[in-house]
Amino acid sequence: MAGAAAEGKNFLGVPVYRPRVAFFELSSCEGCQLQLLNNEATLLDFLSLVEVVNFREGMSGGTDDYEIAFVEGSVTRSDEVERLKKIRANAKVLVAFGSCACFGGVNQLKNRFSPDWVKKEVYGDHPVETSPARPLEDFVTIDLRIFGCPVKKEEVEKIVAGIAIGTAIAYPKYPVCMECKANGNICLFDVGEPCLGPVTRAGCDSWCPNNRAGCWGCRGPADDINIEQMISIMDKHGFTKDTIMDRLECFGGFAAYAGQLRESLNAEDRG
Ligand code: SF4
Ligand code: SF4
Ligand code: SF4
Repeated sequence: MAGAAAEGKNFLGVPVYRPRVAFFELSSCEGCQLQLLNNEATLLDFLSLVEVVNFREGMSGGTDDYEIAFVEGSVTRSDEVERLKKIRANAKVLVAFGSCACFGGVNQLKNRFSPDWVKKEVYGDHPVETSPARPLEDFVTIDLRIFGCPVKKEEVEKIVAGIAIGTAIAYPKYPVCMECKANGNICLFDVGEPCLGPVTRAGCDSWCPNNRAGCWGCRGPADDINIEQMISIMDKHGFTKDTIMDRLECFGGFAAYAGQLRESLNAEDRG
């Protein structure tokens, strides 16, 4: 995939410098990286914007000479901390790539259990190091975040194009409901399905509701959300607090809200 040294290419007729980009994975399923390779129709356009110098899923070899590092996955081992710090030292721009990197992602579900119990249940008698899953920002400074589990390829391409041609990167501040309505979907609450669309950051083009599945909040909270109103909507449609918690806790993006809610539920249970 890697070409020669970064050189001038045309984007919309304008010569652009192709930054050297590298992709890395910590604890992850590598699904976010796979998204980039999936859409072959736009892969060549993407490669005309950047020079990929490290990408385990798409090429062999690699180098420490890069400008932009995309790091997928959460941190769950001490060697990952060292690796992440080295990547940070090499990169001018460090991008947290996907919900595992941004929030801990599905990996952080294990954090609610005791580490010894998790090790025993998952790895049996095989000794492996595994600590609570944490987002990249707990260890290094992050320059950019690309949300989603997995990331949306079109959004990645837009952000990378923005970096390459020097335009501002803006995330949607509004919730998934806005995209869902623009796409003409029937609200899933009206057909008996819970959905976190009212509080989740848009940008995925309402990927799940378009496919008749409620949002699980993989992109984290939109700006200025009203979590009490979300709970009230769920309640009005007959969904239990456990259903809400399952969704709010799934990817880690709502940790601040889910923590408070979990506390109040536990207090209710205690009586
Ligand atoms: S964010 Fe989702 S798709 Fe991406 S690496 Fe994590 S689990 Fe896989
Ligand atoms: S299905 Fe979900 S995202 Fe779509 S309008 Fe209803 S609550 Fe919002
Ligand atoms: S609809 Fe929700 S869960 Fe589905 S991709 Fe979008 S933000 Fe993620």
